[in-house]
Amino acid sequence: MEVLRLIPGMIIKTNYSPRKHKIIRVTRNCTCPRYTDELGYTNSGMEKKSPKHIHIQCKDMQDNRNSGFNGFVEEENKIVSIWTPKDEIIIISKPKNYQLELFN
Ligand SMILES: [Zn+2]
Repeated sequence: MEVLRLIPGMIIKTNYSPRKHKIIRVTRNCTCPRYTDELGYTNSGMEKKSPKHIHIQCKDMQDNRNSGFNGFVEEENKIVSIWTPKDEIIIISKPKNYQLELFN
């Protein structure tokens, strides 16, 4: 099974909200710290750096505002948050050129 890979143009949602978002940009290989660890609200050992993750820049399809999702990892059959593992990104639809993107 191949790893789920997010690309611009995909429509996604989370497992905690029905709102749909269109992906504008995906930034990979980030190791930035967990914000709440830095502030001392949580203590998961990620106050200096986190395991590799992605940041997803989107447009909310309801109001066209900028939206985004931070700290996710693309796994074989799901895209989960490294900071809040119960949070998942669900792909609703892929752009027509999805296959082309895979071979680039
Ligand atoms: Zn980051």
